[in-house]
Amino acid sequence: MISANVQSEASTTWTVVLSKGQSRNPVKRSLEQAIAEAAAQIEGVAVVVVPHLYDLPKGGESLTTLGEIESNLIVASWIFPRAAHWVLDRNGVRGQFVAVEDEEEDDSEESPAATSESDVDRVTELYPRPDREIHCIDLKTDEDAEHFINLVRQIVQGELDPNSNGGEERSLPIVGGKLVQVDETTSRRWYPVIDFSRCTNCMECVDFCLFGVYGVDQAETILVEQPDNCRKGCPACSRVCPENAIIFPQHKAPAIAGADVGGEEGFKIDLSKLFGAPDGSDDAIATAARERDEQLLLSGREAVGIDDQLKRRQQDMTQKPKDELDELIDSLDALDL
Ligand code: SF4
Ligand code: SF4
Repeated sequence: MISANVQSEASTTWTVVLSKGQSRNPVKRSLEQAIAEAAAQIEGVAVVVVPHLYDLPKGGESLTTLGEIESNLIVASWIFPRAAHWVLDRNGVRGQFVAVEDEEEDDSEESPAATSESDVDRVTELYPRPDREIHCIDLKTDEDAEHFINLVRQIVQGELDPNSNGGEERSLPIVGGKLVQVDETTSRRWYPVIDFSRCTNCMECVDFCLFGVYGVDQAETILVEQPDNCRKGCPACSRVCPENAIIFPQHKAPAIAGADVGGEEGFKIDLSKLFGAPDGSDDAIATAARERDEQLLLSGREAVGIDDQLKRRQQDMTQKPKDELDELIDSLDALDL
């Protein structure tokens, strides 16, 4: 076991958390290693390398180590930035989300659902997170370690401009940082992660899931209470959540895996994916009901189909895509094509 007192250096103001990929892919391993080693040479930066964030067990060495860090974080992982942030948040590693975008991408992390007009408070408005910054970098976006090292340098220098072309490389004094590797054995997991900046605590997910995954805390706020009760491969509740707040970081559909599919990407939105129906045949609620039934049958229980509560949601959802389509059509009109 490696002692992970990453706060011991007085000059440490940033900690780079490098979350390793799940596979043994040598290309990924060498990219991770190059980033970790270079970041550890930047003044004021400590580096902690952990197994894949999503797989970390509660109470394990990795989460204990991360929980002890008080500095700002730069989290580099193979899952979408939103997913990485809310995986950490659910494990008590909290702060303000900053998505590190490349080039022309803006820094909006709001989906259409998150920007929809609503008088309902989001959970993070009721329970604000600490001020420290958590910048999240998606390692899937480039194959060049130098690209990510430059991002780290820019963040540490406070000069990250998401609208720039990546910025010029600035030299920072190389004084020798601190690199800690937590070697913890993990196994692959599958469970929902809630984006509390979107969640309105409506409890739809508690009612929908029949496998006892969700619960509430002492403040009556939704939580993923029994994550490992979740049925492997089932993303059904993410289709039912009115705020698109439920993330399955390993799902193949980017919208469900936590990609930012809103804002500037308007014309690229695949509405069938955004709202859940993989083949474009069923609506999101019908798809969710079918997926839930599949899991019920697989576990030896009876299917329940679309119950009254789901029928109500179905009516709500048929309204919502129409609003999105209206917005797209308005945008096209504005372009006068
Ligand atoms: S359905 Fe979505 S918004 Fe409602 S409590 Fe669950 S995660 Fe939050
Ligand atoms: S994905 Fe399925 S099993 Fe898992 S929490 Fe959602 S409804 Fe329950």
